[in-house]
Amino acid sequence: MPCCATVSQLVEVLTAQPINLSASALASSTSITTDTRSIKPGELFVALRGENFDGHDFVQAAIDKGAIAAIVDFKFTSSELPLLQVEDTLQAYQKIAQWWRKQFSIPVIGITGSVGKTTTKELVAAVLATQGKVLKTQANFNNEIGVPKTLLELGAEHDFAVIEMAMRAKGEIALLTQIASPTIGVIVNVGTAHIGRLGSEQAIANAKCELLDQLPNSSTAILNCDNTRLMNTAAQFWQGQTITYGLTGGDLQGELLDNDTMQVRGVKLPLPLPGKHNASNFLAALAVAEALKIDWRLFAANLVINMPQGRSQRYELANDIVILDETYNAGLESMLASLQLLAQTLGKRRIAVLGAMKELGDRSPDFHAQVGAMAQKLNLDALFVLVDGADAEAMAKAATPLQTECFSSHANLVQRLHEFVQAGDRILFKASHSVGLDRVVNALSNSG
Ligand code: ATP
Ligand code: MG
Repeated sequence: MPCCATVSQLVEVLTAQPINLSASALASSTSITTDTRSIKPGELFVALRGENFDGHDFVQAAIDKGAIAAIVDFKFTSSELPLLQVEDTLQAYQKIAQWWRKQFSIPVIGITGSVGKTTTKELVAAVLATQGKVLKTQANFNNEIGVPKTLLELGAEHDFAVIEMAMRAKGEIALLTQIASPTIGVIVNVGTAHIGRLGSEQAIANAKCELLDQLPNSSTAILNCDNTRLMNTAAQFWQGQTITYGLTGGDLQGELLDNDTMQVRGVKLPLPLPGKHNASNFLAALAVAEALKIDWRLFAANLVINMPQGRSQRYELANDIVILDETYNAGLESMLASLQLLAQTLGKRRIAVLGAMKELGDRSPDFHAQVGAMAQKLNLDALFVLVDGADAEAMAKAATPLQTECFSSHANLVQRLHEFVQAGDRILFKASHSVGLDRVVNALSNSG
């Protein structure tokens, strides 16, 4: 059962100002919602102010639909609506989630890193699901609203919670860690995602390691020791219980045998998701099992993972044509990882269909050129680039002498793929989500 408390309990948690609330309303049990579209009678509506919406505009609608009251900020007043006034409604939402999470003494696993968080979250959740009921972050609800939303779903039925934590700026991981108070904190890597906002690799490492800085002393940190910058930075923030993992060393070391198999402590394991990067993510999940004294040998060979759309998806079309759909997002490290996976995928020809990587600031041209150069170095058979600016063009240029074609519209790219693709081809699609390569995948899949 999700968060359930009396209104007066929440008044106390928030030190809120109750307005127009009867004694019976204060004594009522309620649960939390931020969405008037799905509100149920008796729920407490939190009015969040966002960039494109303001929940305060929907307070009347929430009450009309039967909400017991609304949490609003001091700018919102009413002579008749039942309200809990607070300084900041987002902070109030987070405070309730933090309080609710403290009602449970179960393992809570917080996962951050530059790339591979959702994948690792799914792997950890699959490992823990063999032992009990798992609450996990849905979709990509990994930010200042998504993490509280997830924690508010905690109920007596849950044995574990697996929480993805993302950041776009300094201070965000610290806040999410304070809210979720993980018993196990995992950092899968530090790289270059969002470097345009953070400024440098070291600034990113420091921001990820806020997880360690805020981790309760009794918790365990799980760290990827293949990532030198992560390990060096982590040492400045954490001296507590630690399990390291990696493909080059660590307390839990894996040896990649091929794209689909890894050996760990003498045990040969099929990888639930292919590629070296996913072997690393899988090791993180096994390290979580170790931290919880769960014997992963009993089930690790039989895990099935259903990844969300656009990540590590593989579609088989007619004529043995295989699509690797990585259209959900892209950064330097994940582009390189996916290209390597494509290069090692058996088939007739290997074709990369790529687009721009966003939010990379002044490093962007260089990173795009690195991707182009890697496509060339890996001896792929062709590179198709959907060009929406100078960076994507730089990627195409850096791939010479690989056969490279540039497209300025989705329609032209789809048309050319229809002509070009042959039986037995393996085709990787990857770009930042806003490039819209998923539309190209859909067009190709639906006609194939
Ligand atoms: P987001 O910031 O969008 O939440 P994320 O950190 O959750 O991203 P995932 O969604 O797990 O990352 O993975 C995104 C893509 O990155 C995958 O589709 C895959 O191409 C690649 N990837 C996953 N794990 C790794 C890894 N450990 N190293 C490099 N690339 C990876
Ligand atoms: Mg994610």
